Amino acid sequence: MNLSEKQIRDLIVNLSGEKQVGGSFLCKHFNTQSDYLGVTCLSCKKVVAGRGFGGTAEKCMHVYEKTARAFEECTYCGEKRNKY
Ligand SMILES: [Zn+2]
Ligand SMILES: [Zn+2]
Repeated sequence: MNLSEKQIRDLIVNLSGEKQVGGSFLCKHFNTQSDYLGVTCLSCKKVVAGRGFGGTAEKCMHVYEKTARAFEECTYCGEKRNKY
């Protein structure tokens, strides 16, 4: 099988379910901006963690951190979940 670069890129997009941004550009969210509310990708404006930079998103993309207690806590909104 000999795929062109474009075919390979299309395949990766299909597999990852990630949407293409700005034509053929596949964003890897390397260029991010963050504050205590969350992290936003500057390239595609997608919220990567929490509610995004400046808290722009309605729903929090929870990032759970381990605590010394019986639960893990979201770094950004403080939502808790039990450890397994
Ligand atoms: Zn991005
Ligand atoms: Zn959260």
